[in-house]
Amino acid sequence: MTQPQNRIALSFLAHPDDAEILCGGTLVRLAEAGWEVHICTATPGDCGTTTQNRWDISSARTQEARRAAAMIGATYHCLDERDLFVVFDKPTIAKAVDLFRRVAPSLVFTHARSDYMLDHEQVSLLARAASFGYGAPNVSNLPLRAGSGVPYLYYCDPIEGIDPLGNEVQPTTVIDISGQQAKKLAMLACHASQREWLRAHHGIDEYLDMTRRHDARRGQRIGASAAEAFVQHRGHAYPANDILREMFA
Ligand SMILES: [Zn+2]
Repeated sequence: MTQPQNRIALSFLAHPDDAEILCGGTLVRLAEAGWEVHICTATPGDCGTTTQNRWDISSARTQEARRAAAMIGATYHCLDERDLFVVFDKPTIAKAVDLFRRVAPSLVFTHARSDYMLDHEQVSLLARAASFGYGAPNVSNLPLRAGSGVPYLYYCDPIEGIDPLGNEVQPTTVIDISGQQAKKLAMLACHASQREWLRAHHGIDEYLDMTRRHDARRGQRIGASAAEAFVQHRGHAYPANDILREMFA
């Protein structure tokens, strides 16, 4: 198996807690394998509340995200866009490219191309643009780090594993996280504000159980008690071998 020169993984998702829910167990596995891990959210989660103003909730949620990342020695970043207003436009692409330039990831996780919330879809486009282009010298004024180039790109499951029309997504890659799920759930539990918000907005009082159930359902595909599923971007210019499967299957 060939491993990239930079063993640097970046989770590039929309909101604080998306990483823990969608790829947290795989990030734990990568950290355990010695990879440098970064978790970036497009927004600070400024609308994830029914009681606080946007500044207080943003402060609380970025601290929750930082604490969760620290549990696996990961670095947390935020693009400081706004919930519900994430767009694929020139300024936001530039922010994403600069972030990629600083991190120099060789492995990227982002949202499914079709997902229940449009912030997720826009972030997926941003990740695709930044991953394809960040290694081009003229695309950013930031210095180009050694090893920069088109990374492995994986789309996480959409929420509940279904697209916006209700169709189940067929993954290319299913990663066993049964040994990492406890830590994943501990990371998720750092997002205390969201347990309350979900209860108020969705009427769900089972923040951790929802994730546990989804991971168990994905685990059934490979005979594991818990798994996370991905679709790999294998098109032109991207590395097409399934590095996650090679490392962890
Ligand atoms: Zn989200």
